[in-house]
Amino acid sequence: MPATTLQGLAPSRAIARPDIPHATRGRFRRIKTSLTCLMLGIYFLTPWLRWERGEGLPGQAVLFDLPGRRLMVFGLEFWPQDLPIAVGMMIFGAMALFFATTLAGRVWCGFACPQTVWSDLFFAVDRLIVRLVGKGASERRLRTVAWLLIALATGVGFTGYFIDAPTLPGLLLTGRAPAIAYATVLVLTGTTWLLAAYARERVCLHMCPWPRFQAALLDRQSLVVTYQHGRGEPRGRRRTPLRPDLALHGFGELQSTGPAIGPAPAAPRLMGLVAEAVAFSALAPSPSLRGDCIDCTRCVTVCPTGVDIRRGLQMGCIGCGLCIDACNEVMARLDRPEGLIRFDVESAPRRSFLAPPRVDWLRPKALAFGLAALLALGFSGYGMATLAQVSVHAEPQRNPPFVQLSDGSVRNDYALRLAHRRAGLARVALHAEGLNGALLRLGTQDLPAAEVVRVAIGSDRTLDERLLVVLPARAAPSGRQDFTVVVREAETGEELARIPTYFWGPER
Ligand code: SF4
Ligand code: SF4
Repeated sequence: MPATTLQGLAPSRAIARPDIPHATRGRFRRIKTSLTCLMLGIYFLTPWLRWERGEGLPGQAVLFDLPGRRLMVFGLEFWPQDLPIAVGMMIFGAMALFFATTLAGRVWCGFACPQTVWSDLFFAVDRLIVRLVGKGASERRLRTVAWLLIALATGVGFTGYFIDAPTLPGLLLTGRAPAIAYATVLVLTGTTWLLAAYARERVCLHMCPWPRFQAALLDRQSLVVTYQHGRGEPRGRRRTPLRPDLALHGFGELQSTGPAIGPAPAAPRLMGLVAEAVAFSALAPSPSLRGDCIDCTRCVTVCPTGVDIRRGLQMGCIGCGLCIDACNEVMARLDRPEGLIRFDVESAPRRSFLAPPRVDWLRPKALAFGLAALLALGFSGYGMATLAQVSVHAEPQRNPPFVQLSDGSVRNDYALRLAHRRAGLARVALHAEGLNGALLRLGTQDLPAAEVVRVAIGSDRTLDERLLVVLPARAAPSGRQDFTVVVREAETGEELARIPTYFWGPER
């Protein structure tokens, strides 16, 4: 992480940090507001999206169908055995995050982290209430009610990803929802209340491990929120005269040595000898002169984590850019150039405070993370494109391992589970291969055992059955014999799956 010396900083006047960060306007505020609305919209509205899958199947576009042991995302359906795809997506997310952090610092923390998004929502509601009713007891009561409602909506919204969202509120209100739904709502409401309403910036400062990781990802080329000490110091009251080198910026360019403290040593390009002499006089900061910072503390009072960025980059800075907006507003009022606080890199020398930072976007570390993210995405994409359409398990039941029937034949029981994601598949046929004389029967069918059994699959595309395999006494093995259950499409005979398993007979 870039280090910034504090030497030479003028002491700040005492800063009374507000309990609700002040509002600000500007580019980063607009980006944050747009992203907050977008992410909250996605979170709360997604469970309400519908997706027609056919009769018997859930009509919710995104649903964690726990009883069916599957995740439905629009037209895709994922099973537990598709975990490698989820792992690939997680690796993609991690690498993309590393990539973004290497290039642009804590953009995740500042703009997209759920803690930031929910805290931003709570801050906005707090400010609105204060504006409506002012400070006092009714403000505190209203804030508490608003916090509770948001936290409750968050809890119900989350539960809507697991239970049909349009029917969930009715089920919850009438006491007909499953106990786990009430527990989930309760836990999510409680954690939202605790983390976003009370803990807020303390989560970023003390609880989240990510700021510690990112220190290893940032380098001198990463864009981080930076106060330009060389331009801002010595800070002073507005009526204190400005340093002459800064006041003359209209005749040339403000000179910069990068984020490090201290006025620039080089002469301005266009100012000539007179201006050079004036600029030189600013090398020795004088208490009677000030830099561009008027010590108004706006950058601190708008900061959601209470950081004074003028003291250098700190762990508490989440890179949200709100102090940039606040300071730009102040600079505009003073008729001074924007960018006293800005996203900047530490390493690249600039010829001017006003020149944009030169970022090396093609750094090996960033390229490596970008490539790893693309590989992980490709892996998951390939997995999705080649998903197995039918999944069958035939688990031998070992208690007891076999049953000897009255006619001497031997029977083994299997827990058969079939799930498919293939349009039009309604019936399958099963037979045993490698087990001569084997007859099959399903536990729920009142039919005699046969070499081939046919069964209809439920409209929810799953089948849970007890499969019985019977061998005549003379054909029963002594001990274990491996065989394969073959599953075919009942009408066309197309082979869908082969399940290796075993038959257990009495030891002889
Ligand atoms: S907002 Fe700008 S001028 Fe005001 S204290 Fe912060 S850095 Fe200085
Ligand atoms: S100092 Fe505060 S306001 Fe500025 S970027 Fe960091 S967290 Fe945001």
